Amino acid sequence: MDKWNLIINVDRCDNCNNCVLAAKDEYIGNEFPGYSAPAAKEGAELITITRKMRGDTPLVDAAYLIKMCNHCDNAPCMKVAGDAIRKREDGIVIIDPEKAKGRKDIVKSCPYGAIVWNEESELPQTWYFDAHLLDQGWTQPRCAQSCPTGVFEAVKISDDEMASRAEAEDLEVLQPQFGAKPRVYYRNLYRFSKCFIGATVIADIAGVEECVQGAEVTLFQSDSCVGMAKTDAFGEFKLDKLDPKSGSYTVKVQHPDHGALEVKATLNDSLYLGEMKLIKASATSRSETEKA
Ligand code: SF4
Ligand code: SF4
Repeated sequence: MDKWNLIINVDRCDNCNNCVLAAKDEYIGNEFPGYSAPAAKEGAELITITRKMRGDTPLVDAAYLIKMCNHCDNAPCMKVAGDAIRKREDGIVIIDPEKAKGRKDIVKSCPYGAIVWNEESELPQTWYFDAHLLDQGWTQPRCAQSCPTGVFEAVKISDDEMASRAEAEDLEVLQPQFGAKPRVYYRNLYRFSKCFIGATVIADIAGVEECVQGAEVTLFQSDSCVGMAKTDAFGEFKLDKLDPKSGSYTVKVQHPDHGALEVKATLNDSLYLGEMKLIKASATSRSETEKA
């Protein structure tokens, strides 16, 4: 049986807010019998955006994470709600607006914080994948329709196909440790979950400090090479997808014309090492600095 899944590409979101507004437009003041009661004008939103900043000026990475109900297959909310929440055969989780009335306890049952409380109608509510539209033949929910950069892709395929796709395309779910088995997958989630080490490589060139393009950067941890990069036209490099709080690293930079440098760094969160000035072998055999 084919079921709905949503794939969200973190790389493509530029925080325009259209998807949030589309959900408001769809649900505020609109009742969809069999699906949902009108959403509240005020209060928490059904689709949210969280910003994450990594690094430091000038090497800063800003990413935006869209969050909503994950339509979990092992949904903690269903264990608390009883028959007030049901899972359809196509994977979509729906809160019953009649049976859930007054059940504020359901809000806390979601470990993702995806359920909001509608004070006016005394209802827990969530984003139910625009099931009322999909049932009319829509192939994508409104968030996908409204997104100018193609962040969303809703796919209705078998669980085996989805598992293969997730593996082949390196898709991840939020907090897999919850064991909830979400049906919302993320591409490029590393921009939220991982760290980078970066720097600007410079050298004295004809008596002037210049950015060095094309320097080779190698990252070592416990003598093992864990990443390689080349500096760009601004002399910058970024070695990404490192685990936060993953300990000590050595960054080695070398350029055949402008020299070499070695820096040690301790990684807690994303780290901009600042300017790394290459030193020619004739000046000194090696320079070593500790950064954290
Ligand atoms: S994200 Fe929360 S509300 Fe949605 S199915 Fe999972 S546990 Fe339930
Ligand atoms: S509409 Fe697309 S680009 Fe705009 S905030 Fe939503 S996901 Fe990001």
